[in-house]
Amino acid sequence: MPELPRSFPKLKRILIRLYKSIKLPPIKLTVNSIKFFMRQLLIAIGCVLTIFLGGCKQPAKNAESDQATKSNQTTENKNETKQTGPKTLADAATITARKEVPVLCYHQIRDWAASDGKVARDYIVPVENFKAQLKILADSGYHTILPNQLYDYLAYGTTLPAKPVMLTYDDTDDDQFTIAAPEMKKYGFKGVFFIMTVSLNRPRYMSREQVKQLSDEGHVVESHTWDHHKVTGYKTPEDWTTQIEKPKNLIGELTGKTSEHFAYPFGLWNKEAIPELKKRGVKSAYILSTKRDPDDPLFTIRRMIASGYWSAPGMYRSMMQTFKL
Ligand SMILES: [Zn+2]
Repeated sequence: MPELPRSFPKLKRILIRLYKSIKLPPIKLTVNSIKFFMRQLLIAIGCVLTIFLGGCKQPAKNAESDQATKSNQTTENKNETKQTGPKTLADAATITARKEVPVLCYHQIRDWAASDGKVARDYIVPVENFKAQLKILADSGYHTILPNQLYDYLAYGTTLPAKPVMLTYDDTDDDQFTIAAPEMKKYGFKGVFFIMTVSLNRPRYMSREQVKQLSDEGHVVESHTWDHHKVTGYKTPEDWTTQIEKPKNLIGELTGKTSEHFAYPFGLWNKEAIPELKKRGVKSAYILSTKRDPDDPLFTIRRMIASGYWSAPGMYRSMMQTFKL
């Protein structure tokens, strides 16, 4: 093996010192051994540099990822702002185009009496029939929703649970408290009670305490006027005060929750009624299964009366047809 050239005496001295300092066995310094040593040294230096630069780069990487996280957070915050900030009410065409949610309307829930007339029986659902109707909804995977949820879905496009349905009860009958509410409880269902405030505490109607209890249990109590006069017949400002303002305020006092939704008696409405309701803080109003107002779909939300003549599958089929499900 050739000797190390004389032109590198200084390097040779440094290398010998370095070699000795790391206490490796003595070797003869040849060109090849120096080359080998240099290669190892370069590799070592490379490793040190990689670690050092990598270490230096890491914060840069972190900085980048921090920035990415921040930017994600900003996006999320923006999204949050979008969700929680001032919402833009969808226009009437958008609301009308949204898939309709089935809303069922019940009145009395009791077995028919011999004195019940043919027409009345449409509004009186026998107890077993009612139970079977709730069961078929539960078995079919339906989840009950409440007026604020439906409003937010229609007005702002917020999401609803899968297979939403709304169960509404009109006219304050006490069997809604004694039969409908416990039956709904079996399935975790919540209902909406559109009450006439004149009926409260009267025989065969719900009491103020019962209404309060329903509200406390998570059901919703809303207005169906004071004494069931149709809105199309209101002539004076006093009519609106008596039928809309006072019942709305009384429900607020009874339940401790603001009443903001309304069901038209007989499902009857007209264009003139809508601004009057809006003026008095009503956010949405329910009709029956007639045509919605294309200009004001939030004030003409459709409901279907569940007839006392229908079996549970019959009700289910009608619901499918009425709401095009
Ligand atoms: Zn009614």
